[in-house]
Amino acid sequence: MDIRKITRQVVFATIIGSTASTAIATSPPDHRDTQSTAATADQVATSPWISSSVPVPVRSRLEASHQVATQRLTTKAQCRALFADLNADGFEALASTMYYPASTASEKQVCRGAFGYTTVGSAPTFLCRRFSRLSERRAALVLIHEALHRAGMGEWPLDSDGLASGAINDLVAEACGL
Ligand SMILES: [Zn+2]
Repeated sequence: MDIRKITRQVVFATIIGSTASTAIATSPPDHRDTQSTAATADQVATSPWISSSVPVPVRSRLEASHQVATQRLTTKAQCRALFADLNADGFEALASTMYYPASTASEKQVCRGAFGYTTVGSAPTFLCRRFSRLSERRAALVLIHEALHRAGMGEWPLDSDGLASGAINDLVAEACGL
């Protein structure tokens, strides 16, 4: 992969399927947030930062699938290599992602075809309500997909050198065994 970092404000949605979709970036909502204190025996596991305004079913799916994503990074060198190709560290990208709920407007638009969305290079990732209905593995795939954007991976068509959303999903599925 030869995907350069992009700095322009572009939002990518993670879609299970082959259709790319985009949305306008929104600022993180101004809420009081709390750090998850979930403990785990895994030495590299980290508790994701989750906005207190994330709905409980989404939070619950997120906490479980974030652990799965971290485990795949631990056990799959190919999965870590996706991030290394971006000169990034997968654990750091995943751990430094900040999870917010999708906006009400996005729930009616981008979330109709996506499970989450983010801006390339930025920490906030917005999760749609329907993220809570994904299997743990599929949810972990979405988290790694978004973490790759966090690490600087662009996406076609907004990044002409990038892969389409569905192709990124295929890449993650193959490399991370998800
Ligand atoms: Zn994407």
